[in-house]
Amino acid sequence: MSGHSLLVIGSANADLVTAVDRHPAAGETVLGSDLDTHPGGKGANQAVAAARLGARTALLARVGDDAHGRLLLESQRAAGVDTSGVRVGGAPTGVALIAVGPSGDNTIVVSPGANHRLSPQDVASAGELLAAAEVVSLQLEIPPETVAASVRAAAAARTRVVLNPSPPAPLPPDVLAACDPLVLNEHEAEYLLGATADGRSPAEWAEALLALGPRSVVVTLGASGALVATPGTSHHVPAPPVEAVDTTGAGDAFTGALAWRLSLGDSLEQAARFAVRVAATSVTRRGAQTSYPTAADLT
Ligand code: AMP
Repeated sequence: MSGHSLLVIGSANADLVTAVDRHPAAGETVLGSDLDTHPGGKGANQAVAAARLGARTALLARVGDDAHGRLLLESQRAAGVDTSGVRVGGAPTGVALIAVGPSGDNTIVVSPGANHRLSPQDVASAGELLAAAEVVSLQLEIPPETVAASVRAAAAARTRVVLNPSPPAPLPPDVLAACDPLVLNEHEAEYLLGATADGRSPAEWAEALLALGPRSVVVTLGASGALVATPGTSHHVPAPPVEAVDTTGAGDAFTGALAWRLSLGDSLEQAARFAVRVAATSVTRRGAQTSYPTAADLT
């Protein structure tokens, strides 16, 4: 069968992780543990999460012509992602420099590198990938003009758009209006709503978020699961109780799984019920992509 269920347009980063006894002050050097290098970035994570569950998935991203770029391409291919849309070169692969303190308190410096070179032209030249997709899933670790061009191209093709506004940033009204759903955690919801989030219940947040224009909203609530809302309806989807050991990348697993199930024709609530199971499984294991389950792991 040709075509993809899901096209993820977004970031790919190498996560360089070292443990420190304490974080350095300005001008200071501290020693860290042996370096761990993991594939990451929200776009790459979402694509791996979906593909590992069995989704026909493609990734549109940009990496550098370097070892980190090869690591990212390899992890995508190992999960079964179509990497024909991954552009190579123009800048070093994006990197997150992560220092983990003794109580898990991270400091992170992100060098976006090639992610910030993913251009509207790159999207325009990937018309076949876009035309083949049932759902396009986006985050905000690539330039805002590339996000906007992607959403407009998807809307013109009547392709469903799933968008996770992370890291939080302002969104043009027509981009917001195309989201079906906008998927966000409480922190991102507070950013978009500003002071109006104060003192509101999740259901009231969802209503306020819908007033910004998206067709539907999914608010992820950590161990409490997720809230699913369309104009006039809202449902709470509980997360299964699990022993959480590492929530890194849980939101990306949730969104990748949700976007895939929507592409198969699930209702938003059905897709969210599946996505909370996937994300809950991911938090019982360490790492981001390494923690993502296959369909067999879920049953
Ligand atoms: P968050 O970004 O923290 O809202 O998490 C995204 C999704 O991951 C949630 O909607 C849950 O499905 C799942 N999740 C996160 N933390 C936990 C937890 N402690 N127990 C079960 N599921 C979780």
